[in-house]
Amino acid sequence: MKLDSYWTDSAPAFAPAVHALPAQVDVAIVGGGFTGLSAALALAKRGARVAVLEAGTRVAAEASGRNGGHVNNGLAVDYADVAAKVGIEKARAWYRAYDDAVDTVARLVRDEAIDCDFMRHGKLKLATRANQMAALENSARRLAGDGVDTDVEVLDAAQVRSEVQSERFHGGLLYKRSGQMHMGRFAQGLASAAQRHGAQIHTGTQVNRIERLGQGHAHRLHTAGGTVTAQQVLLATGATRHGGYGSFGWLRRRIVPIGSFIVVTEPLGAERAQALLAARRTYTTVANIHHYFRLTADHRLVFGGRARFSVSSPQSDMASREILRAGLAQTFPQLGAVGLDYCWGGVVDMTQDRLPHAGERNGLYYAMGYSGHGTQMSVHMGERMAAVMNGDADANPWRGRDWPAIPGHFGPPWFLPAVGLYYSLKDKLA
Ligand SMILES: Cc1cc2nc3c(=O)[nH]c(=O)nc-3n(C[C@H](O)[C@H](O)[C@H](O)COP(=O)(O)OP(=O)(O)OC[C@H]3O[C@@H](n4cnc5c(N)ncnc54)[C@H](O)[C@@H]3O)c2cc1C
Repeated sequence: MKLDSYWTDSAPAFAPAVHALPAQVDVAIVGGGFTGLSAALALAKRGARVAVLEAGTRVAAEASGRNGGHVNNGLAVDYADVAAKVGIEKARAWYRAYDDAVDTVARLVRDEAIDCDFMRHGKLKLATRANQMAALENSARRLAGDGVDTDVEVLDAAQVRSEVQSERFHGGLLYKRSGQMHMGRFAQGLASAAQRHGAQIHTGTQVNRIERLGQGHAHRLHTAGGTVTAQQVLLATGATRHGGYGSFGWLRRRIVPIGSFIVVTEPLGAERAQALLAARRTYTTVANIHHYFRLTADHRLVFGGRARFSVSSPQSDMASREILRAGLAQTFPQLGAVGLDYCWGGVVDMTQDRLPHAGERNGLYYAMGYSGHGTQMSVHMGERMAAVMNGDADANPWRGRDWPAIPGHFGPPWFLPAVGLYYSLKDKLA
Protein backbone atom coordinates (compact mmCIF):
# COMPACT_ATOMS: atom_id res chain seq x y z
CA MET A 1 0.00 0.00 0.00
CA LYS A 2 1.29 3.44 -0.91
CA LEU A 3 1.08 6.32 1.56
CA ASP A 4 0.54 8.65 -1.37
CA SER A 5 -2.30 10.23 -3.34
CA TYR A 6 -3.73 8.03 -6.08
CA TRP A 7 -4.35 11.17 -8.17
CA THR A 8 -0.76 12.39 -8.20
CA ASP A 9 0.68 8.86 -8.39
CA SER A 10 -1.40 7.92 -11.46
CA ALA A 11 -0.94 11.16 -13.44
CA PRO A 12 1.99 12.23 -15.60
CA ALA A 13 4.15 14.65 -13.61
CA PHE A 14 4.12 18.27 -14.80
CA ALA A 15 7.62 19.46 -15.68
CA PRO A 16 7.97 23.23 -15.30
CA ALA A 17 10.22 24.94 -17.85
CA VAL A 18 13.45 26.03 -16.16
CA HIS A 19 13.76 29.80 -15.61
CA ALA A 20 15.83 31.90 -13.25
CA LEU A 21 13.64 33.58 -10.65
CA PRO A 22 12.47 36.80 -12.37
CA ALA A 23 13.43 40.06 -10.62
CA GLN A 24 10.21 41.78 -11.73
CA VAL A 25 6.77 40.54 -12.82
CA ASP A 26 3.33 42.04 -13.25
CA VAL A 27 1.73 39.42 -11.00
CA ALA A 28 3.25 37.00 -8.49
CA ILE A 29 1.03 34.15 -7.35
CA VAL A 30 1.96 32.46 -4.08
CA GLY A 31 0.81 28.81 -4.27
CA GLY A 32 0.57 26.44 -7.22
CA GLY A 33 -2.67 24.63 -6.38
CA PHE A 34 -5.85 24.99 -8.47
CA THR A 35 -6.46 28.59 -7.31
CA GLY A 36 -2.96 29.72 -8.26
CA LEU A 37 -2.71 27.78 -11.53
CA SER A 38 -6.13 28.88 -12.73
CA ALA A 39 -5.33 32.53 -11.94
CA ALA A 40 -1.98 32.16 -13.72
CA LEU A 41 -3.68 30.79 -16.84
CA ALA A 42 -6.28 33.59 -16.93
CA LEU A 43 -3.70 36.35 -16.30
CA ALA A 44 -1.17 34.97 -18.80
CA LYS A 45 -3.92 34.78 -21.44
CA ARG A 46 -4.39 38.54 -20.94
CA GLY A 47 -0.71 39.11 -21.60
CA ALA A 48 0.49 39.70 -18.01
CA ARG A 49 3.99 38.60 -16.95
CA VAL A 50 3.08 36.02 -14.29
CA ALA A 51 5.19 33.94 -11.90
CA VAL A 52 3.71 31.18 -9.76
CA LEU A 53 5.86 30.55 -6.68
CA GLU A 54 5.16 27.09 -5.24
CA ALA A 55 6.89 25.85 -2.08
CA GLY A 56 6.51 22.13 -2.87
CA THR A 57 8.49 20.14 -5.41
CA ARG A 58 5.33 19.57 -7.50
CA VAL A 59 2.38 21.76 -8.39
CA ALA A 60 -1.07 20.83 -7.04
CA ALA A 61 0.35 18.31 -4.59
CA GLU A 62 -1.42 19.67 -1.48
CA ALA A 63 -5.24 19.84 -1.25
CA SER A 64 -5.61 20.09 -5.04
CA GLY A 65 -3.89 16.74 -5.50
CA ARG A 66 -5.06 15.02 -2.32
CA ASN A 67 -8.86 15.35 -2.41
CA GLY A 68 -11.81 13.02 -2.99
CA GLY A 69 -12.15 13.75 -6.72
CA HIS A 70 -15.65 15.27 -6.44
CA VAL A 71 -16.55 18.38 -8.48
CA ASN A 72 -19.87 19.07 -6.79
CA ASN A 73 -22.33 21.91 -7.08
CA GLY A 74 -24.25 23.16 -4.04
CA LEU A 75 -22.99 24.93 -0.92
CA ALA A 76 -20.90 23.12 1.72
CA VAL A 77 -23.57 24.13 4.23
CA ASP A 78 -27.35 23.77 4.00
CA TYR A 79 -28.87 26.32 1.61
CA ALA A 80 -31.88 26.93 3.91
CA ASP A 81 -29.58 27.73 6.86
CA VAL A 82 -27.60 30.20 4.75
CA ALA A 83 -30.80 31.79 3.39
CA ALA A 84 -32.10 32.19 6.96
CA LYS A 85 -28.92 34.06 7.92
CA VAL A 86 -28.26 36.26 4.88
CA GLY A 87 -31.53 36.28 2.90
CA ILE A 88 -32.65 34.45 -0.22
CA GLU A 89 -30.98 36.76 -2.74
CA LYS A 90 -27.45 36.36 -1.35
CA ALA A 91 -27.87 32.65 -0.60
CA ARG A 92 -29.10 32.08 -4.17
CA ALA A 93 -26.14 34.00 -5.64
CA TRP A 94 -23.67 32.01 -3.54
CA TYR A 95 -25.32 28.70 -4.43
CA ARG A 96 -25.18 29.65 -8.10
CA ALA A 97 -21.49 30.50 -7.78
CA TYR A 98 -20.94 26.75 -7.31
CA ASP A 99 -22.94 25.97 -10.49
CA ASP A 100 -20.75 28.52 -12.28
CA ALA A 101 -17.66 26.91 -10.74
CA VAL A 102 -18.52 23.45 -12.09
CA ASP A 103 -19.18 25.11 -15.49
CA THR A 104 -15.76 26.81 -15.30
CA VAL A 105 -14.04 23.44 -14.78
CA ALA A 106 -16.03 21.91 -17.67
CA ARG A 107 -15.09 24.83 -19.96
CA LEU A 108 -11.39 24.66 -19.11
CA VAL A 109 -11.35 20.88 -19.64
CA ARG A 110 -12.90 21.41 -23.07
CA ASP A 111 -10.97 24.53 -24.18
CA GLU A 112 -7.57 23.30 -23.02
CA ALA A 113 -8.28 19.69 -24.10
CA ILE A 114 -7.45 18.29 -20.63
CA ASP A 115 -7.76 14.50 -20.52
CA CYS A 116 -9.06 13.96 -16.95
CA ASP A 117 -12.24 11.80 -17.17
CA PHE A 118 -14.45 14.81 -16.33
CA MET A 119 -18.07 13.59 -16.08
CA ARG A 120 -21.28 15.14 -14.84
CA HIS A 121 -23.06 12.16 -13.30
CA GLY A 122 -24.42 14.01 -10.26
CA LYS A 123 -23.87 13.83 -6.51
CA LEU A 124 -26.04 11.74 -4.19
CA LYS A 125 -26.21 12.91 -0.57
CA LEU A 126 -27.14 9.84 1.47
CA ALA A 127 -29.17 9.60 4.69
CA THR A 128 -27.67 7.12 7.15
CA ARG A 129 -30.62 7.57 9.53
CA ALA A 130 -34.35 7.68 8.69
CA ASN A 131 -34.75 10.99 10.58
CA GLN A 132 -32.32 12.72 8.17
CA MET A 133 -34.76 12.37 5.25
CA ALA A 134 -37.01 15.23 6.44
CA ALA A 135 -34.08 17.67 6.21
CA LEU A 136 -33.14 16.44 2.72
CA GLU A 137 -36.77 16.78 1.58
CA ASN A 138 -36.90 20.28 3.04
CA SER A 139 -33.66 21.20 1.22
CA ALA A 140 -35.08 19.98 -2.09
CA ARG A 141 -38.31 21.92 -1.53
CA ARG A 142 -36.47 25.13 -0.63
CA LEU A 143 -34.01 24.86 -3.53
CA ALA A 144 -36.83 24.37 -6.05
CA GLY A 145 -39.22 26.82 -4.32
CA ASP A 146 -36.70 29.67 -4.18
CA GLY A 147 -35.82 29.08 -7.84
CA VAL A 148 -32.26 28.13 -6.90
CA ASP A 149 -31.90 24.59 -8.22
CA THR A 150 -34.60 22.52 -9.91
CA ASP A 151 -32.05 19.84 -10.87
CA VAL A 152 -32.42 18.13 -7.49
CA GLU A 153 -34.47 15.02 -6.71
CA VAL A 154 -35.27 13.13 -3.52
CA LEU A 155 -34.67 9.37 -3.87
CA ASP A 156 -36.28 6.90 -1.46
CA ALA A 157 -34.47 3.92 0.07
CA ALA A 158 -35.46 1.55 -2.76
CA GLN A 159 -34.29 3.99 -5.45
CA VAL A 160 -30.97 4.43 -3.67
CA ARG A 161 -30.56 0.66 -3.31
CA SER A 162 -31.14 0.25 -7.06
CA GLU A 163 -27.91 2.18 -7.72
CA VAL A 164 -25.90 1.88 -4.48
CA GLN A 165 -25.28 -1.71 -3.40
CA SER A 166 -25.56 -1.04 0.35
CA GLU A 167 -28.20 -1.56 3.04
CA ARG A 168 -26.93 1.46 4.99
CA PHE A 169 -29.03 4.23 3.43
CA HIS A 170 -32.59 5.44 3.99
CA GLY A 171 -32.75 7.59 0.88
CA GLY A 172 -30.89 10.55 -0.53
CA LEU A 173 -30.88 13.87 -2.33
CA LEU A 174 -29.54 13.89 -5.89
CA TYR A 175 -27.80 17.03 -7.20
CA LYS A 176 -27.76 16.46 -10.95
CA ARG A 177 -25.32 19.25 -11.89
CA SER A 178 -22.38 17.78 -9.94
CA GLY A 179 -19.36 16.17 -11.56
CA GLN A 180 -16.07 14.39 -10.95
CA MET A 181 -12.63 14.14 -12.52
CA HIS A 182 -9.12 12.73 -12.15
CA MET A 183 -7.47 15.47 -10.08
CA GLY A 184 -3.86 14.65 -10.99
CA ARG A 185 -4.52 14.69 -14.72
CA PHE A 186 -6.55 17.90 -14.44
CA ALA A 187 -3.69 19.55 -12.51
CA GLN A 188 -1.18 18.47 -15.12
CA GLY A 189 -3.38 19.89 -17.91
CA LEU A 190 -4.06 23.15 -16.07
CA ALA A 191 -0.38 23.76 -15.27
CA SER A 192 0.63 22.93 -18.86
CA ALA A 193 -2.00 25.34 -20.21
CA ALA A 194 -0.79 28.15 -17.91
CA GLN A 195 2.80 27.55 -19.01
CA ARG A 196 1.83 27.34 -22.69
CA HIS A 197 0.19 30.76 -22.39
CA GLY A 198 3.37 32.24 -20.90
CA ALA A 199 3.16 31.89 -17.10
CA GLN A 200 6.39 30.93 -15.34
CA ILE A 201 5.98 28.21 -12.71
CA HIS A 202 8.69 27.95 -10.05
CA THR A 203 8.44 24.88 -7.80
CA GLY A 204 10.62 24.48 -4.70
CA THR A 205 10.18 28.22 -4.13
CA GLN A 206 8.69 29.00 -0.76
CA VAL A 207 7.77 32.61 -0.10
CA ASN A 208 9.02 33.42 3.40
CA ARG A 209 8.17 37.09 3.66
CA ILE A 210 6.14 39.65 1.75
CA GLU A 211 7.18 43.28 1.94
CA ARG A 212 4.79 46.02 0.82
CA LEU A 213 6.30 48.72 -1.39
CA GLY A 214 4.38 51.96 -0.81
CA GLN A 215 0.62 52.16 -0.35
CA GLY A 216 -0.52 50.36 -3.52
CA HIS A 217 -0.44 46.76 -4.68
CA ALA A 218 3.33 46.42 -5.34
CA HIS A 219 5.23 44.00 -3.10
CA ARG A 220 8.62 42.33 -2.84
CA LEU A 221 8.49 38.59 -2.17
CA HIS A 222 11.40 37.02 -0.33
CA THR A 223 12.41 33.41 -1.05
CA ALA A 224 15.58 31.46 -0.24
CA GLY A 225 16.54 31.78 -3.93
CA GLY A 226 16.15 35.57 -4.16
CA THR A 227 13.44 38.21 -4.33
CA VAL A 228 10.71 38.96 -6.84
CA THR A 229 9.08 42.37 -7.15
CA ALA A 230 5.48 42.25 -8.35
CA GLN A 231 2.96 44.96 -9.20
CA GLN A 232 0.23 42.69 -7.81
CA VAL A 233 0.28 39.58 -5.59
CA LEU A 234 -2.34 36.84 -5.21
CA LEU A 235 -2.16 34.63 -2.12
CA ALA A 236 -3.42 31.18 -3.13
CA THR A 237 -1.88 29.26 -0.25
CA GLY A 238 -4.87 27.21 1.02
CA ALA A 239 -4.22 25.83 4.51
CA THR A 240 -0.51 25.84 3.92
CA ARG A 241 1.82 23.56 5.83
CA HIS A 242 4.78 25.64 4.64
CA GLY A 243 6.22 28.10 7.11
CA GLY A 244 3.57 27.20 9.70
CA TYR A 245 -0.13 26.52 9.27
CA GLY A 246 -2.52 29.19 8.11
CA SER A 247 -0.64 31.35 5.65
CA PHE A 248 0.51 34.94 6.05
CA GLY A 249 -0.24 37.27 8.96
CA TRP A 250 -3.84 38.26 8.91
CA LEU A 251 -5.04 35.01 7.27
CA ARG A 252 -3.48 32.78 9.93
CA ARG A 253 -6.25 33.45 12.46
CA ARG A 254 -9.04 32.92 9.94
CA ILE A 255 -8.21 29.58 8.28
CA VAL A 256 -8.35 26.39 10.37
CA PRO A 257 -6.30 23.52 8.91
CA ILE A 258 -8.30 20.30 9.38
CA GLY A 259 -7.20 16.81 8.29
CA SER A 260 -9.29 14.72 5.92
CA PHE A 261 -8.25 11.21 4.93
CA ILE A 262 -8.77 8.84 2.00
CA VAL A 263 -8.18 5.17 1.08
CA VAL A 264 -8.36 3.71 -2.44
CA THR A 265 -9.01 0.02 -3.05
CA GLU A 266 -7.29 -2.23 -5.49
CA PRO A 267 -9.09 -2.35 -8.91
CA LEU A 268 -12.42 -4.14 -8.34
CA GLY A 269 -12.97 -5.11 -11.96
CA ALA A 270 -15.58 -3.53 -14.23
CA GLU A 271 -18.44 -5.83 -13.25
CA ARG A 272 -17.99 -5.59 -9.48
CA ALA A 273 -17.59 -1.80 -9.66
CA GLN A 274 -20.72 -1.45 -11.82
CA ALA A 275 -22.74 -3.55 -9.36
CA LEU A 276 -21.46 -1.48 -6.43
CA LEU A 277 -22.24 2.03 -7.73
CA ALA A 278 -24.21 1.60 -10.96
CA ALA A 279 -24.69 5.33 -11.69
CA ARG A 280 -21.02 6.20 -10.99
CA ARG A 281 -21.89 9.43 -9.17
CA THR A 282 -20.10 11.14 -6.31
CA TYR A 283 -21.55 10.18 -2.89
CA THR A 284 -21.47 11.83 0.54
CA THR A 285 -23.25 10.84 3.74
CA VAL A 286 -25.21 13.26 5.91
CA ALA A 287 -23.25 13.74 9.15
CA ASN A 288 -20.78 16.14 10.65
CA ILE A 289 -18.17 13.36 10.53
CA HIS A 290 -19.21 12.00 7.17
CA HIS A 291 -17.95 9.64 4.45
CA TYR A 292 -17.49 10.46 0.76
CA PHE A 293 -16.83 8.02 -2.06
CA ARG A 294 -16.78 7.41 -5.83
CA LEU A 295 -15.30 5.04 -8.41
CA THR A 296 -12.29 5.72 -10.63
CA ALA A 297 -12.01 4.99 -14.35
CA ASP A 298 -9.92 1.91 -13.51
CA HIS A 299 -12.73 0.65 -11.23
CA ARG A 300 -11.27 1.38 -7.80
CA LEU A 301 -13.32 2.71 -4.92
CA VAL A 302 -12.09 6.02 -3.45
CA PHE A 303 -13.42 6.23 0.13
CA GLY A 304 -12.72 9.19 2.39
CA GLY A 305 -13.82 10.98 5.50
CA ARG A 306 -12.82 13.10 8.43
CA ALA A 307 -11.61 9.91 10.10
CA ARG A 308 -9.78 11.71 12.90
CA PHE A 309 -9.77 15.29 14.12
CA SER A 310 -6.07 15.89 13.64
CA VAL A 311 -3.90 17.21 10.84
CA SER A 312 -2.39 14.85 8.27
CA SER A 313 0.95 13.15 9.08
CA PRO A 314 2.22 9.62 8.24
CA GLN A 315 1.10 8.34 11.70
CA SER A 316 -2.25 10.10 11.46
CA ASP A 317 -2.83 8.80 7.91
CA MET A 318 -2.11 5.19 8.99
CA ALA A 319 -4.45 5.47 12.00
CA SER A 320 -7.10 6.91 9.69
CA ARG A 321 -6.70 3.98 7.30
CA GLU A 322 -8.06 1.61 9.95
CA ILE A 323 -10.98 3.94 10.78
CA LEU A 324 -11.83 4.25 7.08
CA ARG A 325 -11.46 0.49 6.56
CA ALA A 326 -14.16 0.00 9.23
CA GLY A 327 -16.41 2.61 7.54
CA LEU A 328 -15.93 0.90 4.21
CA ALA A 329 -16.79 -2.53 5.68
CA GLN A 330 -19.90 -1.07 7.31
CA THR A 331 -21.04 0.48 4.01
CA PHE A 332 -20.05 -2.32 1.61
CA PRO A 333 -19.58 -5.54 3.66
CA GLN A 334 -19.64 -7.55 0.42
CA LEU A 335 -16.17 -6.18 -0.45
CA GLY A 336 -14.78 -8.31 2.40
CA ALA A 337 -11.06 -7.99 2.93
CA VAL A 338 -10.54 -5.92 -0.23
CA GLY A 339 -6.95 -4.72 -0.70
CA LEU A 340 -6.20 -1.05 -0.10
CA ASP A 341 -3.61 0.25 -2.57
CA TYR A 342 -3.46 3.89 -1.40
CA CYS A 343 -3.95 5.86 1.81
CA TRP A 344 -3.29 9.55 2.33
CA GLY A 345 -4.39 12.60 4.22
CA GLY A 346 -4.66 16.24 3.29
CA VAL A 347 -5.37 19.54 4.95
CA VAL A 348 -8.71 21.28 4.40
CA ASP A 349 -8.76 25.10 4.62
CA MET A 350 -11.80 25.44 6.87
CA THR A 351 -13.45 28.76 7.74
CA GLN A 352 -15.84 29.43 10.58
CA ASP A 353 -18.85 29.89 8.27
CA ARG A 354 -17.64 27.13 5.87
CA LEU A 355 -17.81 29.57 2.94
CA PRO A 356 -14.87 30.78 0.82
CA HIS A 357 -13.27 34.17 1.42
CA ALA A 358 -11.65 36.22 -1.32
CA GLY A 359 -10.74 39.84 -1.80
CA GLU A 360 -7.97 42.30 -1.06
CA ARG A 361 -6.39 43.44 2.19
CA ASN A 362 -3.45 45.80 2.66
CA GLY A 363 -2.73 45.62 -1.06
CA LEU A 364 -2.61 41.80 -1.19
CA TYR A 365 -5.22 39.78 -3.06
CA TYR A 366 -6.31 36.40 -1.64
CA ALA A 367 -8.74 33.52 -2.35
CA MET A 368 -9.08 30.54 -0.01
CA GLY A 369 -11.21 28.96 2.73
CA TYR A 370 -13.12 26.56 0.47
CA SER A 371 -13.84 24.35 3.50
CA GLY A 372 -13.56 20.95 1.78
CA HIS A 373 -15.69 22.06 -1.15
CA GLY A 374 -13.12 23.65 -3.37
CA THR A 375 -12.02 21.58 -6.36
CA GLN A 376 -14.44 23.59 -8.51
CA MET A 377 -14.46 26.87 -6.52
CA SER A 378 -10.65 27.13 -6.43
CA VAL A 379 -10.48 26.87 -10.23
CA HIS A 380 -13.34 29.36 -10.57
CA MET A 381 -11.86 31.79 -8.03
CA GLY A 382 -8.48 31.73 -9.74
CA GLU A 383 -10.20 33.05 -12.88
CA ARG A 384 -12.39 35.46 -10.94
CA MET A 385 -9.49 36.95 -8.96
CA ALA A 386 -7.62 37.44 -12.24
CA ALA A 387 -10.59 39.56 -13.38
CA VAL A 388 -10.66 41.43 -10.04
CA MET A 389 -6.93 42.20 -10.39
CA ASN A 390 -7.73 43.50 -13.83
CA GLY A 391 -10.16 46.04 -12.36
CA ASP A 392 -13.49 44.15 -12.28
CA ALA A 393 -14.29 44.02 -8.53
CA ASP A 394 -17.77 42.59 -9.20
CA ALA A 395 -16.24 39.41 -10.64
CA ASN A 396 -15.72 38.17 -7.06
CA PRO A 397 -18.90 36.37 -5.91
CA TRP A 398 -17.63 36.48 -2.28
CA ARG A 399 -16.90 40.24 -2.19
CA GLY A 400 -17.83 42.47 0.72
CA ARG A 401 -18.08 39.87 3.49
CA ASP A 402 -16.72 40.35 6.99
CA TRP A 403 -14.06 37.89 8.01
CA PRO A 404 -13.44 38.12 11.75
CA ALA A 405 -10.57 36.22 13.40
CA ILE A 406 -11.50 33.00 15.21
CA PRO A 407 -11.15 33.61 18.96
CA GLY A 408 -8.27 31.59 20.43
CA HIS A 409 -6.93 30.49 17.01
CA PHE A 410 -3.37 31.51 16.14
CA GLY A 411 -2.33 29.01 13.42
CA PRO A 412 -1.78 25.44 14.62
CA PRO A 413 -5.24 23.99 15.43
CA TRP A 414 -4.74 22.98 19.11
CA PHE A 415 -8.51 22.69 19.63
CA LEU A 416 -9.22 19.99 16.99
CA PRO A 417 -9.66 17.03 19.41
CA ALA A 418 -12.30 18.99 21.36
CA VAL A 419 -14.09 19.97 18.13
CA GLY A 420 -13.98 16.30 17.02
CA LEU A 421 -15.54 15.18 20.29
CA TYR A 422 -18.26 17.81 19.98
CA TYR A 423 -19.20 16.76 16.42
CA SER A 424 -19.13 13.00 17.11
CA LEU A 425 -21.43 13.57 20.10
CA LYS A 426 -23.71 15.70 17.91
CA ASP A 427 -23.85 12.89 15.30
CA LYS A 428 -24.61 10.29 17.98
CA LEU A 429 -27.40 12.38 19.50
CA ALA A 430 -28.98 13.26 16.10
C1 LIG B 1 -8.48 15.10 1.82
C2 LIG B 1 -9.22 16.18 1.10
C3 LIG B 1 -10.36 15.85 0.39
C4 LIG B 1 -11.03 16.84 -0.34
N1 LIG B 1 -12.07 16.46 -1.14
C5 LIG B 1 -12.69 17.39 -1.91
C6 LIG B 1 -13.68 16.99 -2.86
O1 LIG B 1 -13.91 15.81 -3.09
N2 LIG B 1 -14.35 17.97 -3.53
C7 LIG B 1 -14.05 19.29 -3.34
O2 LIG B 1 -14.70 20.14 -3.96
N3 LIG B 1 -13.05 19.69 -2.52
C8 LIG B 1 -12.35 18.77 -1.82
N4 LIG B 1 -11.31 19.16 -1.04
C9 LIG B 1 -10.90 20.59 -1.03
C10 LIG B 1 -10.14 20.99 -2.28
O3 LIG B 1 -9.20 20.02 -2.62
C11 LIG B 1 -9.46 22.36 -2.02
O4 LIG B 1 -10.46 23.28 -1.62
C12 LIG B 1 -8.75 22.96 -3.23
O5 LIG B 1 -7.94 22.01 -3.87
C13 LIG B 1 -7.92 24.18 -2.77
O6 LIG B 1 -7.05 24.59 -3.80
P1 LIG B 1 -6.00 25.73 -3.51
O7 LIG B 1 -5.22 25.92 -4.74
O8 LIG B 1 -6.68 26.91 -2.95
O9 LIG B 1 -5.09 25.16 -2.32
P2 LIG B 1 -3.95 24.04 -2.38
O10 LIG B 1 -4.24 22.98 -3.35
O11 LIG B 1 -3.72 23.62 -0.96
O12 LIG B 1 -2.70 24.84 -2.90
C14 LIG B 1 -2.02 25.79 -2.13
C15 LIG B 1 -0.57 25.73 -2.55
O13 LIG B 1 0.14 26.80 -1.95
C16 LIG B 1 1.44 26.35 -1.66
N5 LIG B 1 2.00 27.23 -0.62
C17 LIG B 1 1.54 27.42 0.62
N6 LIG B 1 2.31 28.30 1.29
C18 LIG B 1 3.28 28.70 0.43
C19 LIG B 1 4.37 29.60 0.53
N7 LIG B 1 4.62 30.28 1.66
N8 LIG B 1 5.17 29.78 -0.56
C20 LIG B 1 4.91 29.11 -1.71
N9 LIG B 1 3.89 28.22 -1.84
C21 LIG B 1 3.08 28.02 -0.79
C22 LIG B 1 1.22 24.92 -1.17
O14 LIG B 1 2.39 24.15 -1.25
C23 LIG B 1 0.12 24.44 -2.11
O15 LIG B 1 0.63 23.77 -3.24
C24 LIG B 1 -10.60 18.20 -0.30
C25 LIG B 1 -9.46 18.54 0.42
C26 LIG B 1 -8.77 17.54 1.11
C27 LIG B 1 -7.52 17.91 1.84
